[in-house]
Amino acid sequence: MSETTPEASRHFIQQIIDDDIASGKHASIATRFPPEPNGYLHIGHAKSICLNFGLALEFKGRCHLRMDDTNPTKEEVEYVDSIQEDVKWLGFDWGTHYYQASDYFARMHADAIRLIEMGKAYVCHLTLEQMREYRGDLVNPGKPSPSRDRGVEENLALFAQMTKGELDEGSAVLRAKIDMASPNLLMRDPVIYRIRKASHHNTGDTWCVYPMYDYAHPLEDAYEGITHSICTLEFEIHRPFYDWLLRTLDTPAKPRQIEFARLNLTYTVMSKRRLLELVQEKRVSGWDDPRMPTVSGLRRRGVTPTSIRKFCETIGVTKHNSLTDVALLEHAIRDDLNKTVPRAMAVLDPIRLVIENYPEGQVEELEAINNPEDPAAGSRKVPFSRNLLIERDDFMEVPAKKYFRLTPGQEVRLRWAYFVKCTGVTKDAAGNILEVRCTYDPATRGGENPPDGRKVKGTIHWISESHAGDVEVRLYDRLFSLEDLNSLADGEDWRTHLNPNSLKVARAKVEPSLLQTKPGTRVQFERVGYFCADTKDSTPGKPVFNRTVTLKDSWAKVATK
Ligand code: ATP
Ligand code: MG
Repeated sequence: MSETTPEASRHFIQQIIDDDIASGKHASIATRFPPEPNGYLHIGHAKSICLNFGLALEFKGRCHLRMDDTNPTKEEVEYVDSIQEDVKWLGFDWGTHYYQASDYFARMHADAIRLIEMGKAYVCHLTLEQMREYRGDLVNPGKPSPSRDRGVEENLALFAQMTKGELDEGSAVLRAKIDMASPNLLMRDPVIYRIRKASHHNTGDTWCVYPMYDYAHPLEDAYEGITHSICTLEFEIHRPFYDWLLRTLDTPAKPRQIEFARLNLTYTVMSKRRLLELVQEKRVSGWDDPRMPTVSGLRRRGVTPTSIRKFCETIGVTKHNSLTDVALLEHAIRDDLNKTVPRAMAVLDPIRLVIENYPEGQVEELEAINNPEDPAAGSRKVPFSRNLLIERDDFMEVPAKKYFRLTPGQEVRLRWAYFVKCTGVTKDAAGNILEVRCTYDPATRGGENPPDGRKVKGTIHWISESHAGDVEVRLYDRLFSLEDLNSLADGEDWRTHLNPNSLKVARAKVEPSLLQTKPGTRVQFERVGYFCADTKDSTPGKPVFNRTVTLKDSWAKVATK
């Protein structure tokens, strides 16, 4: 047994593998991650990637990356590239084990011929509709296709014709001959090959017949010597055919299919079809829009691979479908960024703070610590002067109860700078506050408590007005306002639940050094949130900052506090 996790907390797949190793069934394991390259990977795929690659690492086996590209019409090279990039970025390595289902087309075709020769497959001419009718249902057995008992030679000749493109699309399919009365409808002579006169991104026009997913997948696993073929729960009813096929062909390797619960997250959709619709209908800027639950969207938003792996570990592996609170993902993100990301000051909604007793024209460079959680992150200098900018809501003329920030007569600490005491405000003729005024105590330099032991309850951040950089910030929020998008009423359109405020574009005043932030670099704006310089829209000297996550869970229910 592997020593990485204690037995009691090992999930059911680890336990299956423990047993297989203990009994000598397998000396080592091979798993695979088999995406269909018809879209970008999402956080649900990340769960599967962490599981499959994680098991291979844990048991010192191997994990294959396999493009499940059996469908010629929906797949694109762009997707293949993005999938490879995302798996690598998540921190996993398939080594030399990169495969494409389409590389096995000849072998799968030869195996189909073997099935025909064994009398286990036949060419059928029923239309889709007739086939549905002949299949029967859960209470009624199916009835045999008129072609079911045709002889081997004739089937071989017809399949050859299909293969050569001599028959029209839809005029014939190859079906496995199993049991038209099986209680499992998927065992009632499933289609295994169909005619598709379409170019494939890998095999071009070589083939006019393409294998069905249910036929191709077990063979791919067997050809590669996969020991544990892990998939999501909806494939449980496909398992009898998976096993039938490998048994009938007597493949040397007999992978075991194991199903686990897919990841569903609150406030988002997870199917590639819906994600594609969001992209095509331009409801987001692309697959990597930072609001998307795609790996590329999360990356662009500033999420770290470590936090995704940690999240996947936290949610565990079970056999029960459930809905995971996205707050759990956000927690994992904050937890990692808190330890690793340097801090800086930025003001999103500025109001001027004038220090009446600070000399005009004087500038001091004050020392600011980059990350109190990480001494190795060092410190930086921040310019300080008479006119500062602070957040508008860090001042209240008439303070609420327990308001510890700036209000007339109250003293606060300016982060890394001085104590200041509010002396009043300047207003325009209409009574709007133009600026907040204060005095500072030179004995509190660096924000230290003064010799008289005086303390303050509030610390606020600030920017020197004349030194401030001005940048675009993109404040992202959840893409949908509905918690469970699987709970829609019949006919209800999921799009009606898009959150109209999922993106707010604003400007922020930032420490001058932040103007040099390189694309992809993460930073915590103190008291505001975690941000990441956008990798697409930032230009030299003009970073655009994506908000990765707020500092606290603003959606948490107040009652839990
Ligand atoms: P979608 O349902 O989003 O279109 P898919 O299952 O069609 O996804 P594939 O490319 O076939 O996408 O998936 C590759 C692998 O990722 C499969 O093994 C699948 O079981 C797994 N997977 C897909 N979605 C999830 C999810 N939400 N949670 C866990 N694993 C998933
Ligand atoms: Mg699929």
